[in-house]
Amino acid sequence: MNAPDIVVPSLTVRASSWAGLFDCAYRWEGIHILGMRNVVGLRAALGTAIHAGTAAFDTARITGAGLTADDAAGVMVDKLRDPENEFDPARDDLSVNDAERIGIALTAKYCTEWSPRFEFAAVEMETKPLDIDCGGGTIVRLTGTMDRARIRKGSNGVGIADLKSGSSAVQKGAANTKGHGAQVGTYELLYEHTTGEPVTDDAEIIGLKTKGTPEIATGTIKNAKRVMVGTEDHPGLIEFAAEMFRSGRFYPNPKSLLCSEKYCPRHATCPFHD
Ligand code: SF4
Repeated sequence: MNAPDIVVPSLTVRASSWAGLFDCAYRWEGIHILGMRNVVGLRAALGTAIHAGTAAFDTARITGAGLTADDAAGVMVDKLRDPENEFDPARDDLSVNDAERIGIALTAKYCTEWSPRFEFAAVEMETKPLDIDCGGGTIVRLTGTMDRARIRKGSNGVGIADLKSGSSAVQKGAANTKGHGAQVGTYELLYEHTTGEPVTDDAEIIGLKTKGTPEIATGTIKNAKRVMVGTEDHPGLIEFAAEMFRSGRFYPNPKSLLCSEKYCPRHATCPFHD
């Protein structure tokens, strides 16, 4: 009897980091292969806290645990003040008290006005590892949970709903969807790989604006998976990624919105930015 083939991946990456690869691959290599880190600002820590509060609320809706919007705001405050949710106070013009006020307002608004509009089947679902054969013996394994994303059910079937928070997460009354296609496309692939069920509805971004008046709005991303896998006429992003992994050449993008000392831990040694 032959032993089953065991695939040994050359590299394991979290699916949630995948989108950053297509933003600035050189930065992505610095963080995910070379282990460079930079401390985030308070606004990012606020985002982590809002996600913890809203995820607790949506999970309780699915399980019937009966969490209230107040309970969810409490989870948010605990996370914001959790010493493990580290941030550099000098990086944002925001006090912890202001962050708490914004976080409570957004969490309450989300729980009372937005969450009830959706029927969720899963929150931050665990996914089965997905191996991508890059050729030349290089196998990249995508793993992890769908961080900050939900699986929603509607009349068109199953779709991804991904929560994004940030100072410009809502613009002109709609969620900013720009740059999120690779991540939701990856989540669609992972959902289908994990469950064997097709994703049939468009992906939706639920944007929560953390600067100025707290605002929440949605935006749609169509064909996200096709962007990843390609068509007969065009290669998908996975093919470009495979080429980078196989060759070990990760291209810089000095036009990235994250190309600054504040957001890129490779900035000090990177020769490609202005
Ligand atoms: S400094 Fe700019 S170009 Fe260089 S790795 Fe960072 S984001 Fe990319």
